[in-house]
Amino acid sequence: MTDIYSMTRSGLEKWFSERGDNPAKAAILFQWLYQRDLRSFDELPFSDRVKSAMTDSFTMELPETAARVGDEVTEKLLLRLPGGESGDDHVETVLMRQKYGDSVCISTQVGCAMGCAFCQSGRLKKRRSLTAGEMTAQVLKMRRLGAEIHSITVMGIGEPFDNFSAVRDFCEIASDYNGLALGEKHITVSTCGIVPGIMAWSALPHPCSLAVSLHAADNDLRSMLMPINRRYPVGNVIAAAAEFAELHNRRVTLEYVMLSGVNDSPEQAQQLANLIGFSKRFYVNIIPCNGNDSGFIPSTRDRIMAFYDVLKKNGISVTMRREFGGGISAACGQLSSDFSDQKSRL
Ligand code: SAH
Repeated sequence: MTDIYSMTRSGLEKWFSERGDNPAKAAILFQWLYQRDLRSFDELPFSDRVKSAMTDSFTMELPETAARVGDEVTEKLLLRLPGGESGDDHVETVLMRQKYGDSVCISTQVGCAMGCAFCQSGRLKKRRSLTAGEMTAQVLKMRRLGAEIHSITVMGIGEPFDNFSAVRDFCEIASDYNGLALGEKHITVSTCGIVPGIMAWSALPHPCSLAVSLHAADNDLRSMLMPINRRYPVGNVIAAAAEFAELHNRRVTLEYVMLSGVNDSPEQAQQLANLIGFSKRFYVNIIPCNGNDSGFIPSTRDRIMAFYDVLKKNGISVTMRREFGGGISAACGQLSSDFSDQKSRL
């Protein structure tokens, strides 16, 4: 049995064709799944023969909500994914309500193998990667709570390019105009800098937007903060990201979390400007460090402003991320699948 929410439209076209059915049924099925909130294959305008073949081949279940917390703008769900012998798995999904529409941040793995020093998610061991359907389901769960989703960030727990093909399929479903129907520019995949992943993303015909978690411009410091840098040094990461930006005529966001006394000096800002100044397509998103158990201290506002000014003076586009969800441990670097200290409001 295959999860229907893992299937891309082209995958379904193939499934219908192989059975001697019209592949155009795939688009109709997609519309029912993603635009009409189909709950059972029986509701489809297909023959009984087709419907029973679908029931025999595909499951159509969304994960259960194990816990839910929220504040005025943010909502976080803990979803239970039925597991194998080792028991059920859990992941978190975050909804942010913004003036221009809702944004959902989805997880791609149960745990994460990257081990970034400042990130809570990196403390969980990676148990497994999610399927495309388990990512699609996160969006659908939020929609069933009434969210009107305008953008998706693939920035929850996990490293997307450590789960490349499922993330690629998810993005295909999310950007399909018969599917979740979000523009490719409204879906952003964030990587810690896996260079072959960035290159393979570039090679896709219609890739979704790319963000790179940079956090340091020099190799020694970056390797200390992000072990993946020992395999893929920062210069190579920037070169691959620049190539993506050129090829697809897209801006690439570089995320930079401000860690007090670690990566937040004006000299380090200048170093960053020197590294990325060659391309106008980079755009730095300064992120205040969110509290977690990692021991890093957030930079002061003055220090952040000084960093910002150096980048601006060098002609670099830079914004500061508005943080949501700190109060409910739903902000960047806080997702952990651990609701034990939070009162569930379900
Ligand atoms: N593995 C991917 C996706 C996770 S995105 C990646 O690394 O890009 C989550 C973002 O939150 C990343 O940019 C990550 O570096 C950032 N982050 C991690 N810990 C943080 C913290 N304590 N405060 C603010 N941002 C943090």
